[in-house]
Amino acid sequence: MGGKKISCPHCESERCVKNGKANGKQTYLCKECYYRFTINASKRKYPFKIRREAVNLYKEGYTLTEISKKLNIKVQTIHHWVKKYKDLKGIKKI
Ligand SMILES: [Zn+2]
Repeated sequence: MGGKKISCPHCESERCVKNGKANGKQTYLCKECYYRFTINASKRKYPFKIRREAVNLYKEGYTLTEISKKLNIKVQTIHHWVKKYKDLKGIKKI
């Protein structure tokens, strides 16, 4: 391997450091949001860009249904992102 940067599944920062092992898997700690994760847990269905867009639309006052239609993503998924990211500071600035 090599060349592949580790990025935080939570805020997509690349400021991640190794943080010991859990169940034989390397865990990482994000220095941006202090989220802990393993590499396996970091695979994502949607890029962070899309998630951020969805959350930002929500903040602008769009409903989950409207965002769902706009981005062609399930309402439940967007609802999950909104819950997950709404308190994340970094998401506000684009
Ligand atoms: Zn992070």
